Amino acid sequence: MFHKILIANRGEIACRVIKTAQENGIRTVAVYSDADSNARHVRLADEAHHIGGAEARESYLLADVILEVALKSGAEAIHPGYGFLSENAEFSEACEKAGIAFIGPSADSIRSMGLKDKAKEIMSKANVPVVPGYQGQDQAPDNLQAEADKIGYPVLIKAVAGGGGKGMRLVENSADFKSLLESCQREAAASFGNDHVLIEKYLTKPRHIEVQVFGDNFGNAVYLHERDCSLQRRHQKVVEEAPAPGMSDAMRKAMGDAAVTAAKAIGYSGAGTIEFIVDVQNGLENAPFYFMEMNTRLQVEHPVTELITGQDLVDWQLRIAAGEPLPLAQEDIPLRGHAFEVRLYAEDPENNFMPQTGKITHFSCPEQNENFRLDTGVEEGDEVSIYYDPMIAKLIVWGRDRDAALRHMNKALGETAVAGLKCNLEFLGKIMGHAAFQAADLDTGFIERFKQDLMPEDNKADHVILCLAAMAELEPQITEGDPWDYSDGWRMNMSLNTVLTFIDREDSRDIEVTYRENSFLLTIEGEELDVRILSHTGSCLDIVVNGQKISAKVVKDGQNFTIFHNSTVSYLHHYLAGAEGEEETGGSGVIITPMPGKVSQVMVKEGEHVEQGTPLMILEAMKMEHTIKAQVTGRVEGLSLSAGDQVTDGEVLIRIIEDEEE
Ligand code: ADP
Ligand code: ADP
Ligand code: MG
Repeated sequence: MFHKILIANRGEIACRVIKTAQENGIRTVAVYSDADSNARHVRLADEAHHIGGAEARESYLLADVILEVALKSGAEAIHPGYGFLSENAEFSEACEKAGIAFIGPSADSIRSMGLKDKAKEIMSKANVPVVPGYQGQDQAPDNLQAEADKIGYPVLIKAVAGGGGKGMRLVENSADFKSLLESCQREAAASFGNDHVLIEKYLTKPRHIEVQVFGDNFGNAVYLHERDCSLQRRHQKVVEEAPAPGMSDAMRKAMGDAAVTAAKAIGYSGAGTIEFIVDVQNGLENAPFYFMEMNTRLQVEHPVTELITGQDLVDWQLRIAAGEPLPLAQEDIPLRGHAFEVRLYAEDPENNFMPQTGKITHFSCPEQNENFRLDTGVEEGDEVSIYYDPMIAKLIVWGRDRDAALRHMNKALGETAVAGLKCNLEFLGKIMGHAAFQAADLDTGFIERFKQDLMPEDNKADHVILCLAAMAELEPQITEGDPWDYSDGWRMNMSLNTVLTFIDREDSRDIEVTYRENSFLLTIEGEELDVRILSHTGSCLDIVVNGQKISAKVVKDGQNFTIFHNSTVSYLHHYLAGAEGEEETGGSGVIITPMPGKVSQVMVKEGEHVEQGTPLMILEAMKMEHTIKAQVTGRVEGLSLSAGDQVTDGEVLIRIIEDEEE
């Protein structure tokens, strides 16, 4: 076994690999960029080396620099994690040449599976079923269109080099084909440096079920059962579970065998995932399944497999890379109970899942135990930057069966709180609480189909939440002395009858506060509530509203309140008249960058008159395009930015001089 390894990655996966290495007495070397000098993986590793700038291409993608650090520090092997260099054949080869073990498959295996068209061809030859379609080399638009017509609509155009849900276009009919082909090729060329595409039959009710495989250097391969990753947004996984609900033993074996056949067809060594798409129009029983792609690395969602098999997959990877045979034979691989993973992202589900950046001012989770595991790359006080994936953590649970696991997940989500930036915590809770999810009625269209339930548009904080905010606001003044002692300062600086105003999204919500004998009378939108504080420790606040106890977490940061109650997350801002900046009043014509990024398009000209809601420019940030729209009707003035310009956080993008009111 190795004595020292380098982890060529960051975030939760770097921390995950360090954990197993340390348990095995292996010393760990971290590498980090300018943005990560004090990141959790750097704090955890035995040694850490700076490798360059914040942009991935200036640090985590610098194969030569990383290899040099490995040699210098005496690491015998490199674990690439996922993303970055993990599926880079040249890097695997360069490691081998330098006499350093690459903890992953050979360069040949990576190459075989690196492009989706070639991978499908290899799989077809090995008699693994693939999605019907065209994966030939003739890329002439007329030919591709003819092939799509032959397959029959809807079809999916996929960039052969695509990944992470990017480079795909759904085409509903022949007339739309050419323009969608063009935009797919453009995105593919820009994102992957390769504009080749394949055409596939688009399944209208599929489940994404993938099989974890492992191969060793002695020609053996096994499968560690399946994961269901059907819950996706933008073709990217949000919730994963194992085993796939409703999967029969016979189908598990058929898919497992197909996956092992696939791995053996390319002499695979190490951890890999064979992704299948299953046509569940007529249910899962005996449903047709097709090979989609192989990910030649450890997968983000590997923990659910670890929890149902009781195996440490990173340990397996280390052993195999060190030349040991597979730790278990196929028939000895357990399948016990049920596991879920949810990806906690810094993103705003209600705003098209727009990634969020900033400091995590509060992060609390339940204690880890046999039912709950937390994999994270950050702690309270850390930053989510624009440079990398906005995943904050993965919450993983195990239960004796699916219902038990669901209960554990609901409990874990209910006891988790993140403040400082918006995240998808409430959205995840709504998925877990949804009747269709509980009934395991899954397919990849789930989130889109139930978006009204998962992201309700009229999501206003209810009165109990406003009571919590009011109590948290008044509380410090209450506890500083005896609140009901008329002679103390509390009464001096806060009149007994006052109005608190909270900004809740676009609305302003008023709470009339009246002091009573032992409680407060709060009047909110005509409703009278008798409220008192029961206890307050840290962020935990218990209050009694009209005789009913309410337990919540309230994180107060200046005038901003993040309130966690009953699986809802509310963001409120305490409005202080006269103390607010101009932007706070809303409806201003000055638009500040929501995040640093690059202006990719400017659609308006200096002096142009625009209506409220008119798209003004497109900002490219965090690997996504964001359309900036006019918030008021008026005239564009002092426009200084043009396509290609970089903007930093808080910079003024554009000014609209609002029309005079008639
Ligand atoms: P998984 O199935 O494990 O979610 P994904 O393909 O969605 O795999 O992505 C895993 C990680 O690798 C993510 O962090 C994603 O951002 C990154 N990733 C995947 N493909 C690419 C790619 N082509 N270019 C850059 N990053 C990628
Ligand atoms: P990536 O490399 O981006 O992960 P995949 O080929 O694995 O690309 O596809 C990502 C997702 O897109 C799948 O999990 C599935 O939800 C959807 N998808 C892919 N192929 C099809 C198809 N033929 N029909 C319907 N949905 C598909
Ligand atoms: Mg995939």
